[in-house]
Order: sequence, then structure tokens, then C-alpha cells
Amino acid sequence: MKAPVPASDISTRLIHHAYTPPAEFAAPQPGVFKASTVIFPNVAAMRARDWKDKSGYTYGLHGTPTTFLLEERLCELEGGTECVLVPSGLAAIATVGLALLKVGDEVLIPDNAYGPGKDFAVVELARYGITHAFFDALNPDDLAQRITPKTRLVWLEAPGSVTMEFPDLIAQVRICRERGVLTALDNTWGAGLAFAPFDLLGDGSLGVDVSAHALTKYPSGGGDVLMGSVMTRSNALHMKIKLTHMRLGLGVGANDVEAVLRSLPSVELRYAAHDRVARELAHWLQTQPAIAQVLHPAVEGSPGHEHWRALCGAANAGQGAAAGLFSVMIDARYSQAQVDAFCDALRLFKLGYSWGGPISLVVPYHLPSMRSGPTPHLKPGTLVRFAIGLEAAPDLRADLAQALEVMERTPA
Ligand SMILES: *Cc1c(COP(=O)(O)O)cnc(C)c1O
Repeated sequence: MKAPVPASDISTRLIHHAYTPPAEFAAPQPGVFKASTVIFPNVAAMRARDWKDKSGYTYGLHGTPTTFLLEERLCELEGGTECVLVPSGLAAIATVGLALLKVGDEVLIPDNAYGPGKDFAVVELARYGITHAFFDALNPDDLAQRITPKTRLVWLEAPGSVTMEFPDLIAQVRICRERGVLTALDNTWGAGLAFAPFDLLGDGSLGVDVSAHALTKYPSGGGDVLMGSVMTRSNALHMKIKLTHMRLGLGVGANDVEAVLRSLPSVELRYAAHDRVARELAHWLQTQPAIAQVLHPAVEGSPGHEHWRALCGAANAGQGAAAGLFSVMIDARYSQAQVDAFCDALRLFKLGYSWGGPISLVVPYHLPSMRSGPTPHLKPGTLVRFAIGLEAAPDLRADLAQALEVMERTPA
């Protein structure tokens, strides 16, 4: 195994050390390969090697065994065939726009889409001569009417960000497909577990063209990794995305990929646990007099509940699948100061953005600044969003109860 290194200097001998461990090694976790530089055996290999179809390695940015492994496992999760990893969920949204749109094109975005993704279109895509329009996620006719010959891409998101309206995703995708317009879904909430984005009807006949996923959330599961993925079932679309991804230099760190690979085997179990407790708390909050409205797609009466049932209701032995995220509208009789006091009084729920980790989180939102269209389906009040972690339901319920009491005692 050891050929002598032709060098007398100790540094040189350490750098070019000849020992290679035996190749046969198996363990529950895959090895982590870190590289910018990839070493070729000869010039012919350097010239011949192609990285685009995972048949070889050329440069760290183009893929390593570690990134290929996560990409393939994510394809298994979401039902796609090709995937690229990017440094955040927002980078996934940006990559889709930059790869698929050009000057003169228009992109349509639901008015309740992830806010920074809307801002990306409003500010960044606009600088490249790409226009946008927002549509009402709850009204497929509004989407249909806004599609013009300029429309190249339609973003979809189920449910909507913060306000949690569940759209008729099937109708939306049908409309886009009939008009020959590409669809890209922000699949962070569904995570490949609540529904199959590339096979919405279960018979292979209807799906989105692109799925963007903030792996930062459930696939990471730790609140300690930023990563995203862009997945397709089309090699032509994938090649556009992969080449744009490469030209933009959107590499991910091997340690972060390792963290997601470590968390991925438990994603279904964690998703179901977050979901169970979130639903229990959402139903309990519905009984609280201070709460004007509970916004959770699996809760009856929540906007778009019937669409959630149609798409996600069969999962989880008929219980449906719904992630661990929901919002409440705190009744308009409470002032902002009282709502802030409620959020500050929570002890187990921490104030913080994002979700998918073990710690429950709470964020008060100022909704009027987040929507361009009317929201008649929402009761007046102040919106508070909860992301349920992995704590026990009775502990979280007690925390919410004591914070609601603090809110009652706080002067308006
Ligand atoms: C968090 C999130 C993103 C962005 O992910 P980051 O990794 O934080 O950039 C995009 N879409 C949705 C729906 C999200 O929840």
C-alpha cells in the first residue's frame, strides 16, 4: 500500500503521503468529501470528464460524492429526477428565476408567497427587464386572467406564507399547463411529505415543473443549517438550472450537506410529530376567546381547508399531513402592545424566524405591509405565527395559556 514519496522534506512528505486506507468501509453515515480542487489521474481524464450527469468529478462547485448523495436522496423525498443544492431556500428561488427567465418575460407570483421571494422579483428581476404580477392564490380565475403571452413562469406555494391559505394547487397547475406556462412550486411546507409535487393526482398525469425547497426547515431539522434545493423531472430544465447554478457559483459546504444527510432519515417522523402537536394546539387556540381566527390548513374553516384535504388528506392513514406551522389572528380589541406582551411572555416559544427545528418559535407580523391585494378571508386583528418544535403538547399549551393571561393583564 505504501510507495515511498520521492521527497526529502517533511512538509512535502506529509502533503504527498503515500498511504491510502482500504476502500472497503461501511458505516451508517456516509463519508464527507470536502473539495474545491478535484485531482485527475492524467490530462486525458481532465479533458474528458463530464460533471453534468454525475458521471465524474471536476471541481468542488460542480459536485462531490457528498453533494451527489444528498441530491439523489432529495429526489427520493420529493419525487423528482434531478436536483441542485444551493446555499439557502431564498437562493433556490433566485436560481429558478435567473435560470428560466430573460428580458421581456413576466413571472406571476401568489400575493401570499414567501416575502423575500417576492422582493427578489420586485427588485432584482426587474433590473434585468423581467416583470412580475401578483395573483390571488385563492382564486384560480385570477391566475388564469393574468397569464399573457409574456408570462413565462408561475410561482406556486401551498399554503401561503404566514397567512396559511391553501390554494387549489391542482387547478392552478392545470391552468398553467393548458397555457404552456412553466410552474415552480415553493415546496418547503410540504417537504415532499404532505403531497407529491410532481404527481399531484397520484397517477403520474399532473405535476409542477420545478420544486424549490428550503432545506433549512425540515430536512435540516436543527435550526443550524441554511440550504436549498431546486428539483425537476425534466433533463432540459435541469440543465438550464444546473448551468446557471454553476455560473452563479452557488456552492454549498460539505459540513452542511453532512448535517442534512444526517437529519434526512428522520424527516418523516419529525414532520409527523411537529404536525400532531401543531394541530392539537391550533384546535385548542380556537377555543380561546382572545383568538379571532386560527389559520392552519388542516383546521376546518381555515382558508382553503378543502383544498388541503383534497391534496394532503389521504396521507398519514387518513389524518392528512400538514407540517408544524400555523398562525392566529389575535382579536382586534387587543392593542399591538398587548400582542407584543403575549409574545414576550412566552417562555418555551422563542422569538425567531424560520422553522423546522426542535424549538418552538413565535413571530408577530404586520400583515398590511405584506400583501398588495385585499384579504377578506382574514378576520381583523394582529397576526401571530407559530412554528411548533418537538416539545410536548401539554407544556406548549401551558406556555400559551400563561402568555394569554399576561396579555389580558397588560394595559392597552
Ligand atoms: C424559509 C423559507 C424560504 C427561504 O429559506 P432560507 O433558507 O431561509 O433562505 C423560502 N420559502 C419558504 C416557504 C420558506 O419558509
